[in-house]
Parts: sequence; C-alpha cells; structure tokens
Amino acid sequence: LQDRLNTVFKKFKGQGRLDENNIQEGLREVRLALLEADVNFKVVKEFISRVKDRCLGQDVLKSLTPGQQVVKIVHEEMIGLLGGETADLELRGNPAVIMMVGLQGSGKTTTSSKLALHLRRLKFKPLLVPADVYRPAAIEQLTTLGKQLDVPVFASSTDMNPVDIASQAREYAREQGCNVMLLDTAGRLHIDETLMDELAAIKAEVSPQEILFVADAMTGQDAVTVAASFDERLDVSGVVLTKMDGDARGGAALSIKHVTGKPIKFVGMGEKASDLEVFHPDRAASRILGMGDMLTLIEKAQEDITEEEAEKIGKKFQRAEFDFEDFRTQMRRMKKLGSLEGILKMLPGMGGLKEKLGELKVPDKELGRVEAMINSMTMEERKNPNLINPSRKERIARGSGIELDEVNQLVKNFEQMRKMMKKMMGRSKKKGGMPKMP
Ligand code: GDP
Ligand code: MG
Repeated sequence: LQDRLNTVFKKFKGQGRLDENNIQEGLREVRLALLEADVNFKVVKEFISRVKDRCLGQDVLKSLTPGQQVVKIVHEEMIGLLGGETADLELRGNPAVIMMVGLQGSGKTTTSSKLALHLRRLKFKPLLVPADVYRPAAIEQLTTLGKQLDVPVFASSTDMNPVDIASQAREYAREQGCNVMLLDTAGRLHIDETLMDELAAIKAEVSPQEILFVADAMTGQDAVTVAASFDERLDVSGVVLTKMDGDARGGAALSIKHVTGKPIKFVGMGEKASDLEVFHPDRAASRILGMGDMLTLIEKAQEDITEEEAEKIGKKFQRAEFDFEDFRTQMRRMKKLGSLEGILKMLPGMGGLKEKLGELKVPDKELGRVEAMINSMTMEERKNPNLINPSRKERIARGSGIELDEVNQLVKNFEQMRKMMKKMMGRSKKKGGMPKMP
C-alpha cells in the first residue's frame, strides 16, 4: 500500500498544474491501492468521494502547490478514517478491569502480558488473570509470561468457572493492592453463542471499564466482520490490532474504526512483550502515506536513552571520538529496539529506499559476530581503535573465533563510518542544531 501510494503522490507533487482530470486519475490510483490493501470497498468509496469533494471544492487548483494540497487532504482524511484522535484507555475503579476478547490465536494472551508491561511503565500495578479454562495450556502460558515480566498472575485453575475466576480475581487484586486487572478470556475458531454468552456473563459480573477486541491484522476483512459481531454483543471499548509486523496489507486498520465505530487503541508489532505500540492515527496515516514516523521512533528510543546520553553520543559523533565501546552500547540498544530494518522503516523517505534497505539490512546473526569481535578487544582498543595493529587484529580474531579477514573488515568499516559521521555531523551543525537522536 505504502509503495503504491508513494508513486501516486510523487506524481501529484511533481505536477505543477492540476485539473479535474488529473485529480480524477490520481484518485483512481489511490482507490486501487486501497482496494488492493484489502480495505472495505464501501469505506474506500466514501473515502475517495470525500477527498474528491474537498480537492475540487476548495482553492486547491488555484494554490501554488496543488499537488501538495491534495496529498495534505488525503492525509487528513486518512487520519479521520483511522479515528482522528489517539484513544486512551479509561482506567477507573478498584481495580480497573480490562477484558480481552477475540478469536482463538488472535493474540489475546500475548497482548495481555504486553499491556501489563505497558501499564506498569505508566506506574500502574497490574494483575494478570487467565480465564481461558478450555485450552489446557492457556493458563500456563499467561502464568509463564507473567513470571518473565515479574507481574503477578492470579492462580486460576481449569476446574473453575470463568465468571467465578473474574470475581475472585477482583477480590484478590484488592487484597494485593493491584489497581488494574487484565482478564484474558477464551476464544473460539469461530464466533459461537456459548462463547458470547460466557463473555457477556463475565462482563455482567465485573463490569469492565475496557473491553478490548483483539484482532489479527493478517486476517484482513475477516477481522473487521468479527469485530462488528463482538461489538454488537459486548459493546467493546476499543480494538487491538496484532501482527502488524507481518505482511498484513493494512486494510483492517483502515476499515475497522469506520465499520465498528470503535477506535484502535494499540497495535502489536511482534511477539516480544515490548512489541506493543499505542496507536496514533496521525502517525499511522503518515506511515501509510510514506511520510515516515519519527515520533514513534523517538518515543521508542527515549524509553531506553536519556537526553543527556544522546547529547554525549552526538558530540562524540561530531568529534569522531565515537569508539568501539559506544558502538557496542548502541548495537545492544538497537537489538532491544527491534530489528534495524524495523527502525529504518520508521524513518521518513524510506518508502522509496526499499532497494537500499536490502543492502543496509544487518541480520541479527551478523550483529552477534560484530559483538563477539568487539568483546575480544581490550578496553584500550575499544576506546582507541587506531591502536589496533595487525598483531592485535590477529589476537582479536583468535579470541572471538572469527576469521582475520572479517576483523580487518570491521576495523576498516568502522574507520570509514567515523569519517562519514564527522562529515555528516559537520553539515547538520551548520544547518543549525544537532539531532537529538544518536
Ligand atoms: P490467543 O489465542 O488469542 O490468546 O493468542 P496468543 O496470544 O496465544 O497468540 C497466538 C500467536 O500469535 C502466538 O504465537 C503469539 O506469539 C503470536 N502473536 C501475538 N501477537 C503478535 C504480534 O503482534 N506479532 C506477531 N508476529 N505475533 C504475534
Ligand atoms: Mg490465549
């Protein structure tokens, strides 16, 4: 979707003059791109007609940069389609109850643990409550995830009834001073009445502030249909779209708010507990339109890096004092942030750089080798790479079990990188200010 829209927009922007014809033509491309991304056809139709009205109705044609105006209108309308404002969780009550619902395999259990981590970062005290008593391993799965995160998990057992689990867990949360409880419920492969009745009974028992429908983004339009029926029965308060890291075509994200009227609150970007992002319609629209998503990237980085530290590294870049020790720290951080590819995707302009992305891709395995080589250097060598002469290189190769050639390459590339950074930083300094990001 992103690639196709990028092409269309380039055409728009490149055209000095727009008229009804080429707007029509361009929007036809946008329409096809959306349909291809599996966006609900009714949603597409309304979207295009709104954009067209605005493009033709306003002073777009007379403006100096009509192409950019069109792109701006598409962007604004897309933000609206995605829900407009960022939708926050409503957490009140003692404890506040968040209930996760959705089909089997959609990601309820995983998302429950991700949310626990997210809420703890926001200084809440979460309790995880497994209430899927049908799949034998379900309780164990959540218990294990909770342990890994050091979040308390209610000791449910498969011979309990989910409604009882919910009410007992609430008591337990009060006793333990947990102010939010995450209720992980059972799913089925298809919507069925028994399941819906059970969920309705749990809802009646503990009146959750939030009922989050968890949808697998890879299932596209099916996710939208299923969301609508869960919503009809349970009146959900929001949606979590999981597996957005896969090759989901984005159609579900673009239709779900429009069809159900319920906002997307979070997206799942991977299997790890930290792979959950608050959904920001404006940023998502920018990302879809290939405008990048610096804000998310910066927010992500800031969770791990202090401004002070960023500044220090920036200065080191500038003076070409960046050494192997810094490099290793950044590399480890990068691993934590997710893949390099994931980071690059969020940078503006990467839409057009797809091919380059291939070259830039550093597989995790390779990062591991680089780290091994750096580990085999002495602190002195890390701090002062110029010291690394042939005999030291040989020692590093032996120590890390990596070919001498590769060690040579690493040292050489590192020198080049330092030179390049110095140049780059010099330039950005002249333009005023240093980027905060390392
Ligand atoms: P549940 O049946 O709804 O509880 O689903 P689970 O939480 O057990 O998840 C089913 C599978 O999807 C597991 O293998 C998860 O690791 C995987 N999964 C969940 N969320 C994501 C996500 O955001 N990205 C990816 N790649 N996998 C996910
Ligand atoms: Mg589960």
